[in-house]
Amino acid sequence: MRRRLAAGNWKMNGTGAALAEVTALSGGHPNPQVDILICPPATLIQRMAEVARGTAIAVGGQDCHKARTGAHTGDVSAHMLHEAGASHVILGHSERRTDHGETDATVRAKTEAALDEKLVAIVCVGETETQRDAGETLSVIGTQLQGSLPDHGVNGATIVIAYEPVWAIGTGRVPTLDQIAEVHDFIRAGLVDRFGEDAQGIRLLYGGSVKPANAADIFAISNVDGALVGGASLKAVDFSAIISALE
Ligand code: PEP
Repeated sequence: MRRRLAAGNWKMNGTGAALAEVTALSGGHPNPQVDILICPPATLIQRMAEVARGTAIAVGGQDCHKARTGAHTGDVSAHMLHEAGASHVILGHSERRTDHGETDATVRAKTEAALDEKLVAIVCVGETETQRDAGETLSVIGTQLQGSLPDHGVNGATIVIAYEPVWAIGTGRVPTLDQIAEVHDFIRAGLVDRFGEDAQGIRLLYGGSVKPANAADIFAISNVDGALVGGASLKAVDFSAIISALE
């Protein structure tokens, strides 16, 4: 039985004032039936972890470097995230892949670094609109999964997969429920094929314009174990409604 997960990705949004949203969210879900995670900008991780201490809300990073320490100006390591209070880290988000040229090999190296630090890695995959129109969605997802995940240490306690069609992120456009189901079933089958029955415990999140209005329908799909939410995770009232749809 996989416990559901509502993960918020604040991207490059939020300063200290936004921590009030965490307090509001925890007040609205004192004993949530799902796991709740917020991934703020790196500047807020430590403060958010302090605000969230004693609540059901976990805190995560949005990226990490593959090295533990060293001459990498501007980067943050998994070790540093862990020390700041993070328990999870998003890796291979399409904005990282596009803005920073991250390849599957980069994502894999970062995933290994995260697992070494006992951070749960939320590994993102997703096709562009051009790839979907060309009928390449499943092959793209299969290649990303194969290249982005390490061969060892992958199970439900260490890895979460987020399926995020690039064309659905921040656009208000969402795949049909059948399209989401097809990709999630494909991911599940691929994981079990590669990692064995342990992979049944890996949670699969859908991400891309999840809102309170569409959440319940998406969460009714088998093999959708939760959501990675961008814009609608910034305000407690919206994220709370999405969490409620998962419960
Ligand atoms: C995301 O960036 O991971 C995301 C899903 O964004 P949004 O919910 O805003 O589409």
